[in-house]
This record gives sequence, structure tokens and C-alpha cells, in this order.
Amino acid sequence: MKDGNDFARDGPHDAAEEPAVSFSVPDGPELGLTPEAFHSLGGRMLAALADYKRDLPARRVRPEPPVELTREIFAQALPETGAAPEDLIDWMTENLLPASFGNDHPGFFAWITAPSAPIGALAELMAATVNTPAGGPAPAAVNLEACVTRWLMELSGFPVDGSMGILVSGGSMANLTALAVARHWAAKADGWNIRTEGLQGGRARYTLYATKEAHSCVQKSVEVLGLGTDNLRQVPVDGARRLSPEGLAEVVAADRSAGLRPFCVVASAGTVNTGAVDPLNEIADFCEAENLWLHVDGAYGWIGGIDPAKSPLYEGLARAQSLALDPHKWLAVPIECGCTLVRDRELQRETFSYLAPYLRIDGKASDDVPYWPAEYGVQLTRGFRALKVWATLSQLGRRGVRDLVVRHNALALRLAGAVEAAPDLELTAPVALSIVCFRYRPPGWRGSGEDLDALNRRINDAVNDGGRYYFTPTSLDGRYSLRACIIHYDTGATEVDGLVAAVREAGARLLA
Ligand SMILES: *Cc1c(COP(=O)(O)O)cnc(C)c1O
Repeated sequence: MKDGNDFARDGPHDAAEEPAVSFSVPDGPELGLTPEAFHSLGGRMLAALADYKRDLPARRVRPEPPVELTREIFAQALPETGAAPEDLIDWMTENLLPASFGNDHPGFFAWITAPSAPIGALAELMAATVNTPAGGPAPAAVNLEACVTRWLMELSGFPVDGSMGILVSGGSMANLTALAVARHWAAKADGWNIRTEGLQGGRARYTLYATKEAHSCVQKSVEVLGLGTDNLRQVPVDGARRLSPEGLAEVVAADRSAGLRPFCVVASAGTVNTGAVDPLNEIADFCEAENLWLHVDGAYGWIGGIDPAKSPLYEGLARAQSLALDPHKWLAVPIECGCTLVRDRELQRETFSYLAPYLRIDGKASDDVPYWPAEYGVQLTRGFRALKVWATLSQLGRRGVRDLVVRHNALALRLAGAVEAAPDLELTAPVALSIVCFRYRPPGWRGSGEDLDALNRRINDAVNDGGRYYFTPTSLDGRYSLRACIIHYDTGATEVDGLVAAVREAGARLLA
């Protein structure tokens, strides 16, 4: 490669001969590819991914990469000179694919970690290739985002008129974004400009309400928003781990008489532990009467109501002021993809809009771009997430979404039925959606609760070690519980029945 800085090195030439300083530019590295090379590299990668998918079902669900490999991955030195892109594709294929997380395997029941729809993954490749920043005047991307967030409203039953939706990184960010709007709303009602004053004004303590079953990201949001976890009040739950409306009324009343300023209730539509859906209608009644913001964390369960058998659980969802949901969970949109829906779009804009002079092109949204998403959230440069949502939802259609959810809920009932039919298994929580909590408990068990916990822990480990299934436990009132979350579109009765059989087999073996 020619060093273009010859002029500087040689020093100035005779000024009489050289009329002006010339700014020569060195050659850059080769980062771009010819269209032919791009095609060929892409083909190489897609071929590797197709082989990977073909071999996946026969593989261990969650392969543990050898520790030498993980060390090597960590310790790599930044190469001084660049490598050939084919070698990089091969390195990724050889080293990363065999060590994938496991959530793309139909035998994976852990956490709430979904696989990706292939069409969504391909859409992601296109979005990344074109690299549209979807924060501002990007007509196709912003209109597509407006379209898919409307679809998400329609699918969840959230009112469309006057509402705003933006795609964010995931459920944590979706909850944080919504709670920031709630905080802004409350401060505004109190004649307080929280954007200029911040939380330094020595005002009454703002309090919000959730149960112990609420996701940890709610607590994180409360901390990030400067509200303080002391002001996230815990509301009692009923026997099904749902928020108790009577309990809520008592806690709020006590706080009001103590001079605090209750402003928001965070209800769950599908908790991570057991999939419980809080009684949204009753909570909405209370919030309306008490002038509280109702936020619903539906990161996992927001779409559950599309199952006709579950829709009664979701009555009242449409009365929420905001809803957090994760297309990267039940819809299998590739990670990362969350969404915040807010009933009052102007309020959301007021919370976040800050356009520096250099950002404005024409001073306002245009006919081409209905709004600038950057004005409704934290991010300025944002990925074109809408494309993978659009592709996944378009392949499914409304009926496909419904069939997916109905099937998963039915598989959960099948699993629960098998648990109830087995003399050595029992449910540890009611089944609301596609999560089943259960444990092994041999008939006539005389041991302690601790011993039963330990036995179940060993069963969980033994099943995971077997390599055909992978699942993770939870703790319910301090007791160890096995837990299976059904969220993979390829999971079927074979996997569900196999998991139950594997648990019973491991339990019997460990007891013997
Ligand atoms: C997954 C989940 C979250 C967190 O979402 P992320 O996408 O992991 O950030 C929050 N709440 C509930 C109910 C969830 O299931």
C-alpha cells in the first residue's frame, strides 16, 4: 500500500515550482467488499448456518464450550494487521456456533429465552447491511416502525388512537422508558418541571407499587430514575401469586396518610416466575379512582390474551397508561427487541424530546416521517428493529401469532396434566400461560423441605447433564421449584413428555 503522506516526509518543494500545498490522502484499509465478494462471503455464512440448523436437534441442548476455548476467546490479542474475511467467517463458524446458548433448541425450557425466527434473522442482516439509523428522518424505517408498533397495539389490545409505540432493546428498557413517562406525568401534575429541576427539589416522596413477583428490572428502573427502591412499595399477592387489590388499597392508603405521593402501579401480565397475570381490571379501577398511572409489564405475557382461553385474564389491559412488551420473547423476533406503548403520545414526547439545533432539518416531522422516534425515548441513533418485527409478524399473520400462543399454552397444560397424573410429581404454582412450576416429591415423602429442595436441585442438574433438555429452577417462597417455560416454536409434545419422563427417571435414580 502506498503511503500517501509523501509530501510531508519530503518537505516542501520549491515554492516557485509548486503553486499550492497539496493535501494528499493515504489509502484506507479494505473494509468494504466488492459485491461479488459480499455475495460469496454471505453464501459461505448462510451455508454454515443452514448446516448448524440441520444438526441442531441431534445436538446437546446447551453445549458447554471447553474452557480452553472460552479462555482463548477472551485472551485474543488485537491483530496488528487485518485478516481475510473468509477466515473470520470460518472462525465464527468453528468456534461460536458449537457453543451457542441453547435457546434455539426445542429442548430448551430455561428462563424466558426464545429462539429467533429465521425470517427475522435475515431481516436483521438486511437492516444491518443498509444500516439505517431509525431515530429521525428515515421515511421507510420510521413508517415501518409506526406500522409494527400499531400491529403490536392491535395484537395486545392496547388502544391505538393517541397512543405511541417505540421499539427499544428489550423489556428492561421498555419498562424504564414507560416509568420515565409516568414520573414525568406525576411531576407535571404537581406543577413540577422534572426535566429542569430533577429530583433535587425537596418534594414529597413519590411512591410506586408492585408485588414481589415483579421483574427485577422494575427495581432497576426505579433506581435509575432516582426514585429509590425504598419507594417501590411491595403489594401482597393472593394464592395464585397475583397482586391483591385489597392489599394494594391498604398499602396506598397507609402511604397517603404518611404524607407520601403514590403515583404509579406496576402490574404484571405474565410474571417470570410462574406466568401469573395480575387482575388488571380491578387494578385499573383502583388506579382510576386514585389517579394513579397504571403500567403493565407484559414483557413475556403481553400476547397471552390472543388465546381465547386466556383472554379473560387480560380484561383491563386496555385501561393501562403504558405497556412494556418483548417481541424477542413470545414472537421469536431476534434479540434485541422490546417495545414501549404509551397511551398519551404527547406526554411521551414531552418526557424525552430534546433536539439539538444540528439535528433538526426542517424543524418538525414531515409528510414522509410522522415523527422522530428519537424524541420519544433515550436513544438517538437507533437500529432498524422494525424490519425484523415486520418480517416475523408478516410471516405469522394474526392467525399464526394466535396459533403459536395457543399451542404453547396447550403444551403447558399437557405438562401440568402429566405432573398431576404422576404420583411422584406435584405442581408448585397454578399454570396461567406457558410456564409450569413443579417438583419431584415421592409419595409418602417424610424428609425435610430442605432435603426435598436438594433432591430437586440434583434432579434439575441431572436432567440438564443428560443433554436432551435444559431448564432452570425458581424459588417460590424460599422453596426450590423446577420450572419449564415453553416458548420455542419447534417445541412439541415430544419434548414436553420427554422432559417429564427425564425428571421422573432422574428422581427415581437419585433416590435409589
Ligand atoms: C424478560 C422480562 C423482563 C426483562 O426484559 P429483557 O428483555 O430481558 O430486558 C421484564 N419483565 C418480564 C415480565 C420479563 O419476562
